[in-house]
Amino acid sequence: MVKDTKFYDILGVSPTASESEIKKGYRKAALKYHPDKNPTAEAAEKFKECSAAYEVLSDPEKRDVYDQYGEEGLSSGGPGGPGGFGGFGGFGDDIFSQFFGGGASQRPRGPQKGRDIKHEIAATLEELYKGRTAKLALNKQILCKSCEGRGGKADAVKKCSSCGGQGIKFVTKQMGPMIQRFQTECDVCHGTGDIIDPKGRCKSCHGKKIANERKILEVKIEPGMKDGQRIVFKGESDQAPDIIPGDVVFVVNEKPHKHFQRSGNDLVYLAEIDLLTAIAGGEFALEHVSGEWLKIAIVAGEVIAPGAKKVIEGKGMPILKYGGYGNLIIQFNIKFPENHFTDESNLKKLEEILPPRNKVTIPAKAEVEECVLADYDPAKYRTSNGRGQSYDSDDEDAHGGAEGVQCASQ
Ligand SMILES: [Zn+2]
Ligand SMILES: [Zn+2]
Repeated sequence: MVKDTKFYDILGVSPTASESEIKKGYRKAALKYHPDKNPTAEAAEKFKECSAAYEVLSDPEKRDVYDQYGEEGLSSGGPGGPGGFGGFGGFGDDIFSQFFGGGASQRPRGPQKGRDIKHEIAATLEELYKGRTAKLALNKQILCKSCEGRGGKADAVKKCSSCGGQGIKFVTKQMGPMIQRFQTECDVCHGTGDIIDPKGRCKSCHGKKIANERKILEVKIEPGMKDGQRIVFKGESDQAPDIIPGDVVFVVNEKPHKHFQRSGNDLVYLAEIDLLTAIAGGEFALEHVSGEWLKIAIVAGEVIAPGAKKVIEGKGMPILKYGGYGNLIIQFNIKFPENHFTDESNLKKLEEILPPRNKVTIPAKAEVEECVLADYDPAKYRTSNGRGQSYDSDDEDAHGGAEGVQCASQ
């Protein structure tokens, strides 16, 4: 889908890289080709390319334009854009000035850009897997269509001569020993910058120049999108005279999933299998976010230890822009049998089957205490007071000392 990934390639990151990954990639590349380190002409050229790529990819707005229209989109300012973002090059050699403020963002001259509107769009892992189109209604302010935002007929609208069309005036006032200069709204045109002849005033907006409109936006969540990713509708924010409308931005908010965790393009699933399956083989099944069920065999002879991780290739999330799928990582939890699950004769059989017990080794001269295990209940054995399992004598009966860890000297 992406036409041009050159800038990403230069920084050695994927087109789905996060802001911090891009920053890291740039830092790595810039250090490699920095003129201080690498004084060849070739490195100097590379260094410039890195800076140019970072300039675009570190700016969400420029990055959107680049992702949609490639490098060409940037030089033409993008469709309906404010006429170019300023050329590349001309960066200081000090790469750190670009990380810590300083000249990195060049605002386009001319009319100001209006405010962007941000919305969160919640999505389940299933939706991020398959993709989804949400239709959302947007109430926005637009320029009046009848008068094209002028406020009246073309010949009825005159620039305000009192403020020169600025809508604001400067007045000076003496305050004590100081003379202060204030900026106030022009009282002749009431801040609009022009005077409209009442006869020619627009009947549909009454000279206000603006109107309201309800617009339906189709927000496309594409398969593989990630939490925090932005879906941008350029220039769809409120319109007003003499401003470039801001963007409407939807930010993907991935909802937590009951069974799966996401790790980039991979999925992690915690599977619980029984002890017999873990040591003698068998199978288990899980419902994937794709909606299908996966039946997974554990081959007899293979032993799955508690906490073991296995992978099913290609069963992770779809990879945005590049295509293909991440992997499904399965982490195992083994369900052991209950106490007294079988009789002693069967346990004897286990002794014949399983590898022998570990031999206990204690140094010959050591002092040895024999201990008994009890079930651990965190509430009972709280250690927050730093006294461990020693109780006040008052508590002794309630806690039934016999259940505690008991040791007897030999
Ligand atoms: Zn109008
Ligand atoms: Zn005025």
